[in-house]
Amino acid sequence: MAYDSQNIFAKIIRGEAPCFKVYEDEHTLAFMDIMPQAEGHTLVIPKENAENIFDLSPEGAAALLQSTKKVAAAVKKVTGAPGVMLAQLNGTAAGQTVFHIHFHIIPRSAGIDLALHARDKADFTRLKALAERIAAAI
Ligand code: AMP
Repeated sequence: MAYDSQNIFAKIIRGEAPCFKVYEDEHTLAFMDIMPQAEGHTLVIPKENAENIFDLSPEGAAALLQSTKKVAAAVKKVTGAPGVMLAQLNGTAAGQTVFHIHFHIIPRSAGIDLALHARDKADFTRLKALAERIAAAI
């Protein structure tokens, strides 16, 4: 399938759609997931147009993982979660719903189940405050 430049993350990169940004550099962007599976759920994307891991250049993959590591450390610090799950879905069969490659950073604590994937919108005031705290911790 050809890359769809109208997907929501492509619009966020171009500034045509809003996001609660936590980090940006030349090659990557990180922002809060608006339908979080846990408090602090953050997404990291490359600016390169790539639908999935198979389309991404080696340089894009390196930049994406470096930013994911950096942002995950800040998410862990701010949420105080003892565990952090990284997830990256390729293809509808794997559960991918936005067709621009991204890493999910999801804080995990024992006894707290994950909310359903891409289901309920978070309180935006709360998300904004969280984004500011994570950004400040990077
Ligand atoms: P995936 O199913 O791995 O493609 O994940 C897509 C993720 O993007 C889901 O967790 C959604 O909650 C999230 N999402 C969808 N639209 C937006 C948006 N406009 N801003 C932030 N996160 C979004």
